[in-house]
Amino acid sequence: MNHSHPIIVIGAGPIGLATAAHLLERGQDVRVLEAGSGAGAAIRNWGHIRLFSTWRWNIDAAARRLLETPTAAYAGDWNAPRETRLPTGSEMVTQYLEPLAAHPALAAHISYGHRVAKVTRLRADGAGVDKTSSKNREDSLFLVRTETADETKDVLARAVIDASGTWGTPNPVGRSGIEAIGEAEAHAAGLITSPLPDPLGADAEPFSGKTILVMGAGHSAANTLISLGRLRQRHPDTRILWGLRGAANPIRMYGGGPADQLPARGQLGTSLRRLVEHGDIDIVENVAVTTLERGEKLGVVLADGRRLEVDLLVPATGFRPDLGMLSELRLDLDQAVEAPRQLGPLIDPEFHSCGTVSAHGASVLAHPETDFYIAGMKSYGRAPTFLLATGYEQVRSIAAALAGDRAAAETVELELPDTGVCSTDLAGSCDAPAAGTPDPVAGSCCGTPEPVEIGFATGTPDPVAGSCCGTPEPVEIGFATGTLHGHTELLVEQKS
Ligand SMILES: Cc1cc2nc3c(=O)[nH]c(=O)nc-3n(C[C@H](O)[C@H](O)[C@H](O)COP(=O)(O)OP(=O)(O)OC[C@H]3O[C@@H](n4cnc5c(N)ncnc54)[C@H](O)[C@@H]3O)c2cc1C
Repeated sequence: MNHSHPIIVIGAGPIGLATAAHLLERGQDVRVLEAGSGAGAAIRNWGHIRLFSTWRWNIDAAARRLLETPTAAYAGDWNAPRETRLPTGSEMVTQYLEPLAAHPALAAHISYGHRVAKVTRLRADGAGVDKTSSKNREDSLFLVRTETADETKDVLARAVIDASGTWGTPNPVGRSGIEAIGEAEAHAAGLITSPLPDPLGADAEPFSGKTILVMGAGHSAANTLISLGRLRQRHPDTRILWGLRGAANPIRMYGGGPADQLPARGQLGTSLRRLVEHGDIDIVENVAVTTLERGEKLGVVLADGRRLEVDLLVPATGFRPDLGMLSELRLDLDQAVEAPRQLGPLIDPEFHSCGTVSAHGASVLAHPETDFYIAGMKSYGRAPTFLLATGYEQVRSIAAALAGDRAAAETVELELPDTGVCSTDLAGSCDAPAAGTPDPVAGSCCGTPEPVEIGFATGTPDPVAGSCCGTPEPVEIGFATGTLHGHTELLVEQKS
């Protein structure tokens, strides 16, 4: 392996910075390329949202060691946040990511305003290696095409870790995974907001007294709906519509409530349920948007002929990875989830809703492209259940692998918060992978999935009472997992 070039990390979010901390600890030359103007650029967009995991889970171990260890150049005077507190996104940035990125050992390795446009390979003599070139491919360098405000340049690397998240590529509002007709124009006209606006803060003005359609069923939708509910207390003429792609399903919509062992997340579901039951939020089921028509209001045309007239649409429809920038690399991705193939079945939102995927590292995240990894939020592809603690273990293992410490790379350990309720109305869900896939989950209880009929999830009928694998039941295909995570047995109670 050619060590005369650095390892490039794409993105200075929590996972990218943790990757850099682990690599530096192992004496590796690292360079972080960040599109934004500072650390945590994506999180700044949802700075007003409070995380549901406490500081204990949100700080990487190598980053903590860096921040707490005095050196000749650094006093070690980082003010560690209280472990039991839940930070907001802004606090994640100011109390953790900014001090970390400013650390003298790390700061010089980060280039802001550097957007990676493409990653490909290149021979040391400058000869190109496109996707079809196989000869000695694994010995070639990486070429990382990078755009700044002033120029486009090619940066060379010996390895690349893509920790660029998914914030920049939200799912469209339209049905079947593509934009509705007129969606781009509605965006351009400001009729579609960011995925996580701040109706109680900076964005209050445009929402007050308006009719707002919030599309989605996950945490982002829950946060926005609750904020809008509070806004409505001040401005009762504000009308809130909650658009669900499928039929209303309380387990999916509200999650575990008090049973969720991450109380902040459970509280989301409880508050949301209260707003719906009090009539502050009107649910609109089976929303399949075909067309968005700009007029005095935004006309939302649905596949079944209904039409909604709203002032603003909030697209809390989840995110997907930007794979375009990786199109010259040989990736091995799960066809459905767009996560590394071995990881995909563990987190497929059609079958799993829990954040409690077991530890996985370099070997599960590897691709045919030697020394290239996708880590962090982006490694989960289209699945919404990524947790920082999972990502920190990913990059610890990846850094060990790139430093040649295979033993440390293979020994993956992860303690995760016990996270409430699983949506086992997704029949067959027990956070176990499909049979035939490598299974890092010890003690999994699901058997071989059976073929899917449209409208039915796979699953193995299981007569054992309290087992997490149930008889297949109808599910909404492609529906977001909502606020549900954790223990299947609690759900069994709720279903009976
Ligand atoms: C509202 C919300 C709340 C969440 N709450 C929690 C929680 O409580 N607990 C938890 O564990 N997880 C939570 N998550 C999930 C996840 O941990 C976060 O999304 C986290 O920010 C993911 O970190 P990341 O470093 O992988 O990606 P990001 O934080 O998205 O960072 C990616 C970085 O890459 C940069 N970038 C993007 N594209 C490029 C490019 N082409 N070139 C260069 N740079 C680029 C971005 O500017 C950004 O700085 C939450 C997510 C959301 C959206």
